[in-house]
Amino acid sequence: MNQAQKNVNPNEIEKFSAMASQWWDPEGNFKTLHQINPLRLNLVNKIVSLAGKDVLDVGCGGGILSESMARKGANVTGIDLGKDLLEVADLHGLDTGVSVNYQHISVEELAAQKPASFDCVACMEMLEHVPDPVSIIEACSSLVKPGGYVFLSTLNRNPKSYLLSIIGAEYILGMLPKGTHDYASFIKPSELAAWARQSELELVDSRGIEYNPISQSFSMTADISVNYICVFRKIDKNQ
Ligand code: SAH
Repeated sequence: MNQAQKNVNPNEIEKFSAMASQWWDPEGNFKTLHQINPLRLNLVNKIVSLAGKDVLDVGCGGGILSESMARKGANVTGIDLGKDLLEVADLHGLDTGVSVNYQHISVEELAAQKPASFDCVACMEMLEHVPDPVSIIEACSSLVKPGGYVFLSTLNRNPKSYLLSIIGAEYILGMLPKGTHDYASFIKPSELAAWARQSELELVDSRGIEYNPISQSFSMTADISVNYICVFRKIDKNQ
């Protein structure tokens, strides 16, 4: 596959790579990812019991989720198309002594090489940054073993999510750099579930992640109107 055929927006990779050195700064541009990480990690660990599991983190960036899953005892592979980000991830792993297998490869290519290899695939906060999210979901489904779990998180598309995640988070509160998100690329849970279903992924659960501007903290909620995570299980045809 050459660069032009890849399902990637090079501007998006550049945008994240330009901020690579800030990835692990808990007060930097990726503060929000640091803040939500314990919540999503707990959800994944509760459902798949990470210790000893083979886990793939798609669009891992500098490795916040990857490292935290490896700390729980999972064998983690992290993939991203930002080389600088993977370097930051590798260096951080050397510092902390947490081992993750980081690879510069697209999820579609990995799916062609290693189908049905992982107990769990996570693709968090990435689908809204790619030209063809359906192709990413298909590849995640190919990579997970039958009966395994896929976690997809993204931003919902409605007036409230526009107000909170773009106007609020980027322009009023300054929680994210301006231009981080493009509203047109946000995904409704019904769209996500329909695409997943076409790829033999059954919806098991969905949770929202809510920001409280007073306490300046995030919590899990049943309200999936803004940022949300869906949990899917790959259909096991032998069951
Ligand atoms: N999943 C991480 C990082 C989210 S930021 C987390 O939640 O902590 C979005 C990430 O997606 C960036 O690291 C960016 O480089 C990556 N990305 C964007 N398009 C991609 C693509 N087509 N393939 C792989 N990674 C991609």
